[in-house]
Amino acid sequence: MQKTVFLFLLAVSILSCNRPFGAIDGLDYEIPDDESTTEERQLINEIKADIIQTSVSFGIKLDLDKLPIIVTSRQDIVTSEGNTGFNGLCFWDQNKKGKAILLNKAPFRYDLYKAESLKKAELAPQTFHTLLHEIGHCYFGREHESQILQRDGKQITIHQTNESYNLPFVTTSVMDNTAGSMIPYSLKKYYVAEIIGYFRASSLDEVAHFINAEMTDRPE
Ligand SMILES: [Zn+2]
Repeated sequence: MQKTVFLFLLAVSILSCNRPFGAIDGLDYEIPDDESTTEERQLINEIKADIIQTSVSFGIKLDLDKLPIIVTSRQDIVTSEGNTGFNGLCFWDQNKKGKAILLNKAPFRYDLYKAESLKKAELAPQTFHTLLHEIGHCYFGREHESQILQRDGKQITIHQTNESYNLPFVTTSVMDNTAGSMIPYSLKKYYVAEIIGYFRASSLDEVAHFINAEMTDRPE
C-alpha cells in the first residue's frame, strides 16, 4: 500500500516555543511543578534515551541530565512570540542558556493512547518531535526557522515493514515551528543529526541519501 505522509499538518496550531525565565513584559513565571504520571515519565525517558543514543552514533554526547524536563497542564504561560497553549517550551535565562523544558500534557494523551498504532505506522510520537525541538532551543540555543526541501517531480520513498511512504517535501529542521505533529521514525536519524549540528541537508536528495531511502518520480 502506498501512502503519502505530509509532514505539515497545519491544522495543528499548537506551537513549541521558548520564553525567558523570570520577569519580562510584566509577566513573571516560575518553573511549574512537575505533574508527570508514571507513563508520561517513562515515555520521556525512552525518547530522551533514544535521542542520546542516536547522537552517540554520530560521535556526539549530549548531557541532558542538567536540563529538567517538566510536564505541566498549565495553559496560561505566554511565549516570547506572544502565544499560549504550547506543546513544548524552553525557559532560558538572560544568557539564553536553557533552564528547563516544559512539555504540555495534551500531546501525551494522544501519544500514550496511540502508542501501539504509532508503532505500527512507524511514526514518531509528537512528544519526540516536541522534545527534540525544545532541546534545539534549550541546549543548542537554536531559533525558529522555516525551510522546506523539495524537488520538482520527485519524492522520497521510504519502504517500511508493512507499507511505503512518499514524502514530497520535508522540513530542513524540527526548529520549523509550523511543522505538524508527526514525523516518520525513518527521518528521526536525520532530524537528530540536524539538531546536534552533525549534518544539515540542503536538498531533498541529501535527506534521502542520509537515511538510505530512494528518490522516486512523483505522480502528476
Ligand atoms: Zn520553539
